[in-house]
Amino acid sequence: MDCQNCGRELVGFLQGESSAETASALRAHLDSCARCRGRAELLRGVLRTASAPPPRPDGFLESVRRRIAQENRGPSAAESPGRGRMPSLSWRLATASLALLLAAVGIVALQRSSRMRPASPPDRCLAANCQA
Ligand SMILES: [Zn+2]
Repeated sequence: MDCQNCGRELVGFLQGESSAETASALRAHLDSCARCRGRAELLRGVLRTASAPPPRPDGFLESVRRRIAQENRGPSAAESPGRGRMPSLSWRLATASLALLLAAVGIVALQRSSRMRPASPPDRCLAANCQA
């Protein structure tokens, strides 16, 4: 086993997919080669991170459930002190951004529809004035 073969077999070895023969050859090489040992350590860390579930703050699910229960009860429900304030603020921000976005979309749609409309309505209006 040389360094090139070691690099090729390393991922499979670390995931436990190597044959017994390959695994023992790899172990022997890693014992004697500091460079590949370092690579193996690095790769082990990467694989562990990739397979681990994403980190989440303590009590996150619980605070989401509490939040949903509060929203269902209506706006008059009492706000929980301390930790409850951060999600509350971000909810308001999200709602405000959504409202802004909808307003922007509405304005664009309005401009587009008025641009596509032919200029006849003002003419008709003037004509109506003339008839009166
Ligand atoms: Zn090596």
